[in-house]
This record gives sequence, structure tokens and C-alpha cells, in this order.
Amino acid sequence: MTNTFLPSYLSRENVGPWETYLAQVECVAPHIDRHLVPWIETLRRPKRSLIVDVPIKLDSGEVAHFEGYRVHHNLSRGPGKGGIRYHPDVTLSEVMALAAWMTIKNAVVQVPYGGAKGGVRVDPKRLSLAELERLTRRYTSEINILLGPDRDIPAPDINTNEQVMAWIMDTYSMNQGRTATGVVTGKPIALGGSLGRRDATGRGVFVTAREAARKLGVPIEGARIAVQGFGNVGEAAARIFSEHGARVVALQDETGALHRESGIDVALASAHREQAGGLKGFAGAEALSAEDFWRAPCDFLVPAAVENQITQHNAATIQARIVVEGANGPTTPQADLILQERGITVVPDVLANAGGVTVSYFEWVQDISSFFWSEAEINQRLDRIMSEAFNSIWDVSRARSLSLRTAAFVVGCKRVLEARALRGLYP
Ligand code: GLU
Repeated sequence: MTNTFLPSYLSRENVGPWETYLAQVECVAPHIDRHLVPWIETLRRPKRSLIVDVPIKLDSGEVAHFEGYRVHHNLSRGPGKGGIRYHPDVTLSEVMALAAWMTIKNAVVQVPYGGAKGGVRVDPKRLSLAELERLTRRYTSEINILLGPDRDIPAPDINTNEQVMAWIMDTYSMNQGRTATGVVTGKPIALGGSLGRRDATGRGVFVTAREAARKLGVPIEGARIAVQGFGNVGEAAARIFSEHGARVVALQDETGALHRESGIDVALASAHREQAGGLKGFAGAEALSAEDFWRAPCDFLVPAAVENQITQHNAATIQARIVVEGANGPTTPQADLILQERGITVVPDVLANAGGVTVSYFEWVQDISSFFWSEAEINQRLDRIMSEAFNSIWDVSRARSLSLRTAAFVVGCKRVLEARALRGLYP
């Protein structure tokens, strides 16, 4: 297997997501047509980055300021597409990386979009619902110059949900003087949302895991699953794995970790989280330390939280056969090498979690055509796109002796760069 190229800055202890992305792009050049190579430079810089001040009136009457971002990484293949994240640790360089991963992801599953991402540096848990609405509407107004159904289409990401998407859609629509459902995806069904969108990322994680398992001869029935993160992606992935006869043996969220060899009841764990605000204290499993979570023997490990969770400090302890990246950027380049050397297959984020944006694309198509599909039809189309994407990347990885991540980057970057080269340099 060809080693991932590691630039010198990656020997540092703390590597940011943007540097991780740059290291991933470095692997592509030897595997694409020579005429595309000069265009790689366009992937190393975002097309445009907007930083906005988001002032809002708090319920107390005071005014608070938050910093917001919206980045268009690359628009060669279509309008910008990617979620909006509310988190106290959001930075411009993180949003740049998330936007760049959207560029690659959209190309991997061949949805006709470029890569974009947004974020506000805020802890939404400290805001009331009314404050959250004012924050969302002001942020939307500030990034309005970039938005539009054929320009830039946001979606949910960490700490944003259907209600937030409804406010974004309404704010944009009020300013346009018309109802523009196609400006955002992940909306409530009543506002042109799509059936199946809520579970789509978790379902896509399951489909790519199933395809990887087929190739490697690992049965899903009875397989042991460990899931880090129990939000929209982690919960759906755990539930869908269980529905297919797998055992969820370990779960972790920001409040604590759980273990149960015979399998955790995902519905009961969800009900506990609803009521207690997290997994901690769930009676249906034993408590586990955060370090022991990474050591839990399992067949599939699904990181479904934030970036930089699998690092050089825990990669050697991981007992999984297959890692399926539900999160964006959960594995550092150093950890990626360790997993590769240990023979652990990694289904990379730009492939594994692309189910969300795939059903976002279905939602946008349904909104534009004002014709809505059944959930069965959506799940079937999602399954087909995800398994075809997995299998074509698997074939490239085998043919060229590359990791699945590098193969996904080769396939994705090639599609973006072909579009870029055909469009040419303006003026
Ligand atoms: N935030 C999701 C992601 O990281 C979904 C993006 C979308 O649907 O546009 O892929």
C-alpha cells in the first residue's frame, strides 16, 4: 500500500483540519492526468471566504456579538453546498476544511455541487430559542450575498436542525419577496423537506460499511459496532446497524461512554439521552472511560462526532476491523498511517458520510420540480448512489494500491479538476 505523503508541518503535535485536508490533497497528483496537475493549486485555496459579525439582542436586552463564516471552497461543478455549524470552537480554518471536504464529497457521489460550509462561533446551548432564532436570522442576512438555490444551498451540521433551516429559508424568502424552498436543505417536511433526510447520513454510513464488509468477508449479522457521537449521524447509524442484526457494543458522547457486550438497546439509549441530556447514567449498559472506549473490541468503529478524534495517541489501541467515518475529519493524517499499517480499513468521511448531502440533493431536486418522492424511493436511490460510489473507489484503491481515502480523493479531485480545466481560466 502506498504511504500517505506527510508534509513536515504534520510532525507537529496539533494539526488543524485545514492542514489535514492539504495533506490529503498532496496524495492526488501522481494518480491523475498530467494536464490536470497544474489545476491542483486551485484546491489548495478556497474560492472565497466571508467573515461576518453577527450582533443579536439577548433576552436580557444586552447586545452580544458572534463571529460567523461562510466559505465557498470550489464552485467548478455547481453551486456551493454544505452545512452550517454552531459551535464555540468554530474557526475560519475549520470552516475552510469542511468546505473543501464538501467539494471532494459532492464529486465522489456525483451530485452537481461545489463545496461550501458555514459556521458561527457560538455555544447554542447557552441561548434561548428566541435568541437562537435572532442569531440564525441575522447570520443568514449577513451571508445573504452568497446564498440562493442556484448559488449556495446550506444544510444542517453540528447543532443546527430542521427548525434552524426553516428560519434560514424564511429569512431568505422574506428578503426575496417570494418563497424559495430550494435555498436550503434539511428543512421540515411541511416546508419542502425530504422524507429520509434526517436519517440519510447515518444510512449512508451503514451502506458503505455494508459494502466494505462484503469485500472483506465480515458479516453484518452479529457484528460488534462502536459509535462515537450520538447526534443525528451517530444515533441513526447505530439504529440502522441494529436493525440489520448488528450489536452496538459501545457508545460515546460528550457526557460519557457506555459498553454492553450483548448489545445496547439504541432506542432506550436515545430515550435516556432525550430525558437526561446525554448518554451518561444510562442504566442499560456499563459506564466506560473515554480512553477505554477507543480500546473496545469491535468489528466496526464509527466516529460520528467532530474532527481529530482518532489521533497518534489512540490509533494504536483501536480494536476495530473497519473504521467508517460518519464525522468530517475525525482521523488525523498520523493516525491514518497507523491504522493503515495495522491493516484496519478506513472508509473515509468524503465517502462514508456523503449520504446526507446526497439526500439534500434529492430534496433540492424535489423542491425545484415541486414533485415529491416516497421514502422508499429515496432510500433506494441513496443506497444505489452510495454503493456505486463505494465500489468504484474500492476498485481504484485495489488497482493502484491506495488507501480508500486516497482513492476517494483521486476520484473526487479528478472530477473537480476536469470541470475546472474545461472551464479554463477567466479572463
Ligand atoms: N453537513 C452535512 C455534511 O457535512 C450535510 C451537507 C449538506 O447536506 O449540504 O455533509
